[in-house]
Amino acid sequence: MTPKLEEARALLARPSRVAVFSGAGLSAESGISTFRDTETDAYWQRFNPMELATPEGFAANPERVIDWYNWRRRTLATARPNPAHVSLAAQHGLVQITQNVDDLLERAGVPYEQVYHLHGTLSEDRCHAGCGYRETIELAEPPALRACVQCGAPMRPAVVWFGEALPGDVWQKAETLCRNIDCLLVVGTSATVYPAAGLIGIAHQQGTKVIVINPNASDASALADVELIGESGTVLPVLLEGLSLASV
Ligand code: NAD
Ligand code: ZN
Repeated sequence: MTPKLEEARALLARPSRVAVFSGAGLSAESGISTFRDTETDAYWQRFNPMELATPEGFAANPERVIDWYNWRRRTLATARPNPAHVSLAAQHGLVQITQNVDDLLERAGVPYEQVYHLHGTLSEDRCHAGCGYRETIELAEPPALRACVQCGAPMRPAVVWFGEALPGDVWQKAETLCRNIDCLLVVGTSATVYPAAGLIGIAHQQGTKVIVINPNASDASALADVELIGESGTVLPVLLEGLSLASV
């Protein structure tokens, strides 16, 4: 075990409240592309975010947006949780604040109420007009573009697009938690998308210890008390082995 890993384990092992803040890197080893990675297959290297993940892009060409999300859903349907998801799920009391819209933490065994999806989920559609109607989506067989049965507006993935507000209740719970923990485990995020990435700063300002896991330097590096350079599927199982962590 490296000295950095031992340092991180010492922070986690003392009686403390811990939470996890994750991003696309957590699911990279499950074969789900990240957004801003330097890898050539990162989404935004291949697609234009303004056409696919904005209300304006949806208005301009709703079929294209739905087709892209449905392709991502079918990819997710065949993906499996990786050792990072599994080792996080083994910590039964740990709340997972995530920017990810996949359901791999839940499939690894984290109870639904313990996953705070800041950017929504691919597993649901919602009415784009905001009438409140939602539907659960079969990831392997997602439906084509269709109208809301309640008001006739188009249905869309229940995810947060650029320029849209985060779900207020989820943000509130995440922010409150980050103000009341002793240690934040930051996993696989470039920490560039706000307001989500601001949670790291909120925790850091409180004197909360910040542990960062990422194979690359990120915007979270400057706030890290311990930075573990590596892939989360390799680092997390070793880091968490034998520990029993909780968020409350
Ligand atoms: P990002 O693409 O901006 O950054 C990914 C980060 O993960 C990078 O810092 C990269 O170095 C790191 N990384 C790559 N492989 C890793 C590994 N094996 N282990 C650990 N870290 C690894 O992703 P982000 O910070 O989450 O950006 C935010 C946006 O991306 C969010 O809006 C989120 O909704 C969206 N997103 C979600 C998914 C998903 O749900 N799985 C996938 C792609 C993007
Ligand atoms: Zn509606």
